Amino acid sequence: MSDTIFHKIIRREIPATIVYEDDGIIAFKDIAPQAPIHILFVPKVTVPTLNDVQPDQAEIIGRLAVAAANYAKREGFAEDGYRIVMNCNDHGGQTVFQIHMHLLAGGPLGRFG
Ligand code: 5GP
Repeated sequence: MSDTIFHKIIRREIPATIVYEDDGIIAFKDIAPQAPIHILFVPKVTVPTLNDVQPDQAEIIGRLAVAAANYAKREGFAEDGYRIVMNCNDHGGQTVFQIHMHLLAGGPLGRFG
């Protein structure tokens, strides 16, 4: 059983600033933003880490990415650019064990890698 803080946000048991929702995804502002714009895109189906995504669930990752890009277009910063990040397990820095895609934007983010 994997019940995380993000599941509680999905169930509206704890508050969050929700910026997008559809039948499969919820997106809300990160509580500790690492950039001027920092949104988390989370699937509603339980998947603890990227390692747990099954071949027939690959579409979930695409939906998160497309939702993030659409958000950037809607908010008018898609052309300026943004970064999406998924952390996996200890070395990746994952702290909430329900997969999520970080969308970071709002200014130059510096080179990564
Ligand atoms: P991770 O480190 O697992 O990739 O990312 C988890 C993210 O969730 C962090 O950026 C953290 O700030 C955010 N976070 C943790 N708890 C909460 C919460 O209760 N509400 C919101 N909105 N974000 C949270």
